Amino acid sequence: MKQQLVFEAPRRALPPRHLADLDATGRAAAVSELGLPAFRAKQLAHQYYGRLIADPQQMTDLPAAVRASVADALFPTLLTATREIECDAGQTRKMVWRAVDGTSFESVVMRYPRRNTVCISSQAGCGMACPFCATGQGGLTRNLSTAEIVEQVRAAAVELRDRDHGRLSNIVFMGMGEPLANYNRVLAAVRRITEPTGFGISARAVTVSTVGLAPAIRKLADERLGVTLALSLHAPDDELRDTLVPVNNRWKIAEALDAARYYAEATGRRVSVEYALIRDVNDQPWRADLLGKRLHGALGPLVHVNLIPLNPTPGSDWDASPKPVEREFVRRVRAHGVSCTVRDTRGREIAAACGQLAAEEG
Ligand code: SAH
Repeated sequence: MKQQLVFEAPRRALPPRHLADLDATGRAAAVSELGLPAFRAKQLAHQYYGRLIADPQQMTDLPAAVRASVADALFPTLLTATREIECDAGQTRKMVWRAVDGTSFESVVMRYPRRNTVCISSQAGCGMACPFCATGQGGLTRNLSTAEIVEQVRAAAVELRDRDHGRLSNIVFMGMGEPLANYNRVLAAVRRITEPTGFGISARAVTVSTVGLAPAIRKLADERLGVTLALSLHAPDDELRDTLVPVNNRWKIAEALDAARYYAEATGRRVSVEYALIRDVNDQPWRADLLGKRLHGALGPLVHVNLIPLNPTPGSDWDASPKPVEREFVRRVRAHGVSCTVRDTRGREIAAACGQLAAEEG
């Protein structure tokens, strides 16, 4: 089935306001609306971001008499875990969330020897309609609120702390949705994640992945946040990319790469280029050469290619490329002076790998 590109999310009510929606000014205003002294705003932020507590009843430095009104005004329960499934001996775990309006979406925690990553969703569903991606096949349900995004991060941090004595170190916006199509809320979430008064996670450890909304990439560069940008390219020529990443009909490869270069120069950070390797579709040697050539030309040393062996999705005949084809692809890209590695695929058995998030009710 051919999906339509959707930039504007359907007008559906977002969830009630939550502390995580607010910046420091907003927190101060909210606390004063409740008739509480200003210092409570900092205390609440410390409890939430520092101690990962979202239930005012557990905030022992908050007077018992005000806990209920603080809970009502600032800590509605936004996400309920409906399922948690794991694989890779518990190193990969998918959470299926239900929002207050019944909308479902997913996040995935991945443990590695030297880092712990959570892959989070920015929208329920996605409007970008890439035919090889399960999320793209379901269309867009709605944007997530800032707090719904931040709550996925808090949940991952709590789980890593309580279950693994671990720390959340990396955050990737590579779950469901196109983050730059929900720009303001994603930006606010990135701020909550990186601010010292938020989770205080280094911006370098946060990756925002996009299909290539060129104007939004430039805007993000101008925010000077220093987050890592990932560009989902998947083809080095417009003819093929028009079909694999339909937004290419609006912003061509040259425009996406220009924007990526602007991002790399503004931030001094290397841009990641993602390329799902699909057997007999985009894995030909000439395409590897063209990819290497174009990326070297556009970005020089400021690019790294992540090849993702295609993860199969329901109803699609497409498959990953054979290993020898993959190896040759890597060799050719590198021959153009472009660094290139193959991403390990985590979570295939539990439909948690790249492109498999569909939040099916199970
Ligand atoms: N909309 C953003 C965020 C999604 S990130 C983006 O497109 O960048 C998820 C990454 O996984 C993207 O690079 C996406 O193209 C890739 N992907 C989607 N479906 C996939 C599949 N079936 N196998 C491998 N990678 C896939």
